[in-house]
Amino acid sequence: MDEIRQKMVQLTNTLTRYAYEYYVLDQPSVPDAEYDRQFRELQELERQYPEWVIPSSPTQRVGAAPLTGFSQVQHETSMLSLDNVFSHEDLLAFGKRVSERLDNAPSVLFCCEPKFDGLAVSLLYLHGQLVRAATRGDGSVGEDVTHNIRTIRVIPLQLNLENPPARLEVRGEVVMPKAGFDAWNRQAEQAGEKVFANPRNAAAGSLRQLDPRVTAQRPLAFFAYGVGSYDGPPLPDSHHARLLWLRQAGFPVSHEVRSCLGIDACQAYHDEILARRNSLPYDIDGIVLKVDQLELQERLGFISRAPRWATAYKFPAQEEITRVLDVEFQV
Ligand code: NAD
Repeated sequence: MDEIRQKMVQLTNTLTRYAYEYYVLDQPSVPDAEYDRQFRELQELERQYPEWVIPSSPTQRVGAAPLTGFSQVQHETSMLSLDNVFSHEDLLAFGKRVSERLDNAPSVLFCCEPKFDGLAVSLLYLHGQLVRAATRGDGSVGEDVTHNIRTIRVIPLQLNLENPPARLEVRGEVVMPKAGFDAWNRQAEQAGEKVFANPRNAAAGSLRQLDPRVTAQRPLAFFAYGVGSYDGPPLPDSHHARLLWLRQAGFPVSHEVRSCLGIDACQAYHDEILARRNSLPYDIDGIVLKVDQLELQERLGFISRAPRWATAYKFPAQEEITRVLDVEFQV
């Protein structure tokens, strides 16, 4: 028993260090697949021995505390993480849990989306104008990156709506497209400068700069994937329809987003996107399934760090064993 308890402490400490390197320093020392493997091992032990769960365990938290160099932003509604599934069996179990919680609904409509491998941000528009942008941080408090976000050309500074809402918070992912990432690294290599480890770290390191002029030089893009806080005319009552509304309002929304009725359709979407993964212009590490109807999302609610109405379905790792390159870090 002591051994198991020690193992839980050891996993908690190791994962906490990895999370600090990944979220705060943008400089991971192990591949994501290795982090995910240890995370699942800890989750399983915590399920068997709930009395020994350490409150600061990474399974109980989102991300990491914001960097002190930035002003802090308190999120009005928490920016959560996502639970993960890794196999068809896990996916079926997720579908079953959702259906059971919805009075055994026979077939649930999901909105399926690529899982962008970048950095989550919250963009706040008051009366149609972008007034603030923040990173997810630890889910409650993020970093104010407004000046940096304003340098990303695809993000509208003003909504493309005749009657903009009094308040609109858009949530999405800042990414560095593969072409920009490759070109940037080639140039850095030739100049003998540090190269980025991968597009995710490149996006995070580029956005979390104290000098927006540095961010402005980086090839960053953005995809909107949801609405946070809102005050305005009623919005559509399905997630997919809201994404289409966001596109009309001026935000880039992935053209790969699709409605899928039932878990089998979600599996087929996963397989199709996985087959096309390498030809997409940006990195993805899986798909995300979200129960489409907002009313059903509300009924399903949340657990500590993630919604019950959504899950990520992760792709097999592409970089099991990597040479983690020096990551640029200038914050
Ligand atoms: P996550 O990446 O597992 O899932 C939540 C995030 O997905 C959201 O915050 C959002 O940013 C993103 N996302 C992308 N597309 C989305 C979409 N269409 N809809 C909604 N959200 C979307 O989140 P996490 O908890 O930040 O990170 C955990 C993952 O990060 C781990 O599974 C691991 O792969 C990686 N990680 C790696 C290390 C390491 O040392 N290598 C350390 C910590 C975390």
